Amino acid sequence: MDTQILPVDGRSLELSKKIICEGGAVAFPTETVYGLGANALDTAAVENIFKIKGRPSDNPLIVHVHSGFDISALVDYVPDYAKRLAEKFLPGPLTMVYKSKGKVSAAVSCGLETLAVRVPSHDSAQKFLKYVGLPIAAPSANISKHVSPVTAEHVFADLNGRISVILDGGKCSGGIESTVLDCTGDIPVVLRSGLITRRMIAETVGDCGEYVMKEGEKARSPGMKYKHYSPDCDTLLFSFEEREEAVAKYRALNGQGNNAYILCDDETFRLIGVEKVLNLGESAEEIASNLYLKLREGEKIAQTIIAIAPREQSGIMAGVMNRLAKACKGQ
Ligand code: AMP
Ligand code: MG
Repeated sequence: MDTQILPVDGRSLELSKKIICEGGAVAFPTETVYGLGANALDTAAVENIFKIKGRPSDNPLIVHVHSGFDISALVDYVPDYAKRLAEKFLPGPLTMVYKSKGKVSAAVSCGLETLAVRVPSHDSAQKFLKYVGLPIAAPSANISKHVSPVTAEHVFADLNGRISVILDGGKCSGGIESTVLDCTGDIPVVLRSGLITRRMIAETVGDCGEYVMKEGEKARSPGMKYKHYSPDCDTLLFSFEEREEAVAKYRALNGQGNNAYILCDDETFRLIGVEKVLNLGESAEEIASNLYLKLREGEKIAQTIIAIAPREQSGIMAGVMNRLAKACKGQ
């Protein structure tokens, strides 16, 4: 199968709709990362997404809808706090988990009774979702466990030959996946951190929990248990306090002919001043936006990426740290 990267226009939208209606998959940009979308009402189409990505069959998908879509057609009970959060943060990088009405294929939620729903704010995502007019099940458009894609070229690198169309919406501005929020209980609970932080949610509705998986417990958000976001090269992770150790490792590896690069934020870079650096930038938003871009750049040029965690680890940086730790987990 030939894979084309197409600008978002009348022709590519028409082609995308045809592919989706025939049970195929289309990659499209969102404000977080690129998604690989299929008709959420069509079980074979949803199962095909798992096949294309090599995704574990118990890792549920998020359903994407346009901003005019009435989600009460898909989910049963939307608590008052969820309505307030939707008003404030949607469309945007916040996925909300509700009790499912069972209207979409059971393959989307991998048999769970809940459904994760997201309304992306990216202009091209909205155009695609409106044009197709169906709920679209979409994980990130990468091979499972690899670094998530934030450009059409990243999607192409992973899925060339496996899908026919990648809609090109430029570089995703957000850079890390959406916050996943459980809205089935009395208060919202963050299942996966992202750009909409626990604090922002608590400030809006008064309270917000955070789910931490305990040893031996069945994951409430199954994706959390998997290794993820890993670049195709060796990786090491040091804390901010261990930065001198990281530099010593960097020098030792380069001295042995191993082409090692340091991945860190601008604050750390100014402290250590090494030559081969993948600089994530300064603000939390900038660091999140650059994380996958730099991991993908790093896997091409480096034999080893030595990551140094940023000093600050709350708010948006909690989401960055979670991805960085998973990216650098044992290969
Ligand atoms: P990805 O599509 O790779 O960004 O992953 C989506 C993530 O959303 C999954 O890994 C799950 O952790 C989470 N998710 C999707 N559906 C549900 C659900 N029904 N309940 C809880 N978490 C979900
Ligand atoms: Mg993913």
